[in-house]
Amino acid sequence: MSNIRFQALQTVLNRATPEVKLPSNKISDYFSANVFDKQKMKEYLSKEAYLVVVNSIEKGEPIPRDMAEQVASAMKSWALSKNATHYTHWFQPLTGTTAEKHDAFFEPTSDGGAIEVFSGDALAQQEPDASSFPSGGIRNTFEARGYTAWDPSSPAFIMGRTLCIPTVFVSYTGEALDYKVPLLKALNTLDKAAVDVCHYFDKSIERVNASLGIEQEYFLVDIALFNARPDLYLTGRTLFGHISAKNQQLEDHYFGSIPERVYAFMQDMETEALQLGIPLKTRHNEVAPSQFECAPIYEEINLAIDHNQLLMDLMDRIAKRHNFKVLLHEKPYAGINGSGKHNNWSMITNTGKNLLSPGKTPKNNLMFLTFFVNTIRAVYEHADLLRASIASVNNDHRLGANEAPPAIISIFLGSQLSDVLDEIETSRISKKIKDDAMLWQGIPKIPQILKDNTDRNRTSPFAFTGNKFELRAVGSSANSAGPMTILNMIVADQLKKFKYDVDKLIKKGEKKDVALLMVIKKYIKESKSIRFEGNGYSEEWEKEAEARGLSNFKTTPKALDAILSEKSAILFEDTGVFSKREAHARHEILLDSFYKKLQIEARVIGEMVTNIIIPTAIAYQSKLVENVKGLKDIGLKETTYSAQLDIINQISDHVNFIKSNVEHMVSERKKANIIEDIREKSLEYDEKVKSYFQPIRYHVDKLEQLIDDSIWPLPKFRELLFIK
Ligand code: ADP
Ligand code: MG
Repeated sequence: MSNIRFQALQTVLNRATPEVKLPSNKISDYFSANVFDKQKMKEYLSKEAYLVVVNSIEKGEPIPRDMAEQVASAMKSWALSKNATHYTHWFQPLTGTTAEKHDAFFEPTSDGGAIEVFSGDALAQQEPDASSFPSGGIRNTFEARGYTAWDPSSPAFIMGRTLCIPTVFVSYTGEALDYKVPLLKALNTLDKAAVDVCHYFDKSIERVNASLGIEQEYFLVDIALFNARPDLYLTGRTLFGHISAKNQQLEDHYFGSIPERVYAFMQDMETEALQLGIPLKTRHNEVAPSQFECAPIYEEINLAIDHNQLLMDLMDRIAKRHNFKVLLHEKPYAGINGSGKHNNWSMITNTGKNLLSPGKTPKNNLMFLTFFVNTIRAVYEHADLLRASIASVNNDHRLGANEAPPAIISIFLGSQLSDVLDEIETSRISKKIKDDAMLWQGIPKIPQILKDNTDRNRTSPFAFTGNKFELRAVGSSANSAGPMTILNMIVADQLKKFKYDVDKLIKKGEKKDVALLMVIKKYIKESKSIRFEGNGYSEEWEKEAEARGLSNFKTTPKALDAILSEKSAILFEDTGVFSKREAHARHEILLDSFYKKLQIEARVIGEMVTNIIIPTAIAYQSKLVENVKGLKDIGLKETTYSAQLDIINQISDHVNFIKSNVEHMVSERKKANIIEDIREKSLEYDEKVKSYFQPIRYHVDKLEQLIDDSIWPLPKFRELLFIK
């Protein structure tokens, strides 16, 4: 009898690598081919309409209805020329994935024929029947209406045969039901605050955009093996499995040669991504076996996030063609590295200046230091909120697990910039500076090429890497808009405070540059405790961080408290990014998803143990019992079957442990389920229900090691990780 595991293995061994045909040898020939980008707009729109749309993209100005009509008609012509048959509003509800509902262009006519129609109204606004998207109580069922509205700053694109229009998703009462609305608000606030501060240095700057480059880590596993593991296909991670004898200890996978089947998948995925305008640039093996990474060239942040959401969706679909499953879970396999999504972030002016790039002249350096130190000050002030923004049940497995930054938020600058800040901190800024030359002496020189950055600290959750900060604690499956909304909002708020502080000094009669430097110096002092250059994985750091008064929320339910804190409430109000109701709703949605995911995992553990693991253990044990009986029957001494007896006993011990612990876990679950308060309920799931997972798993994994390999029904780690 061949069990599902061996059938799956057989299937994998018979796989052929599909042939990949590239559209052209030059990527520039097909890059953005499926995007209604500026070039296509120019071709399909009247000059007037084109300018209106560009103005809207760049300055966020609304598009009048008659122009929307023109744009819709142009989009339709372009989409039909690309063989599209349907259109959809594409949005990012708080489920974390993307949502779409397709409508055909086609409409029957009274004469029995049909035409293709796409109106300005259909482009601008839709009302998806979306009452089952999470709203955190914002939409009672009687007003369960929400609508999607076109976001012209992210261009429409064609996926398959559907024209997709990026949109925001809001309730009829005006509250955000998605990730995009708060992000756009935060970006708008940042733009204003940063431009105001830029004007101390350069009056010609009109806009500041945040830039983002998202590195995406993922695992690949053959679909047949994946389907043979109920834990993988129901929860995205393995809930059992003894670690493979060989895993990542030889460090032979990182940057190694890419296996042929994986290479074919990557090429296919990249081709489609590039056609969708996603500027993928880098691909390589990651640390764990079967783990990979891809990274695009950075883009304006709203677009970068749309592209990452699109990419995750695309990866999943292309993988199917290659009989792979993409695992975006933060920790699919215990004992080896999990996956993250590094968010490389900076601020760039409309004049093309990167505000986090150290300049050549002292004046430029003062400008750099302004934005650099304000970012540090912002993260220092709202570290807890930033921690909350990366919290999820999946990421709890990763943070602080010696492979990802700890749950303590700190900032790594590298020794050169640390020295620069230390120098400013201790320097005496004379209030009576007469000439500029004296002032500039107060600003240390910043080397153009920062040598730390080649060897930057991988253990820091927030590291400066030359001309950008890198938030490294974001989970691989997360929508980056969550943490990026927070980051941009806190920096915006900080810049506003900076301007206030500087203006106050100027009013008191300080020279502008002196005032700037004085406030910078003050901020450096205030935010010192968040800076840490050492090993973030070490135990000493946990102790030191505690002594410094830095928070260390190890799991999600408590980490999320920061969303409801008094400090955050003021921040949300000052920046206008979240209303009170929205903040509460988000808190509730995050907790809801947290405990529900644990609930699902607990159920899957129960089912797999009862219906798969224990029956397999008993079947093997019965075989041994038969064997012992036979040896006894033919009159052999006990020594001939003592090993069997030992295994029989061990199996019973493990089975007993597993069975009774599953029962306890179920009763804890029942207790948790009747708790009304969602925070309490989540804590109960986190602290009680989850505490059974590891012990149960330990004994299951022991059984895996004891039992005859030929009857073990679940693909083992060595197979999941190495066979493809
Ligand atoms: P590493 O793995 O060493 O961190 P990668 O090349 O994989 O480096 O990724 C670096 C990412 O940072 C890329 O997505 C890149 O586009 C992005 N990046 C570079 N400069 C900036 C910037 N100024 N703003 C935002 N992202 C940036
Ligand atoms: Mg990186």
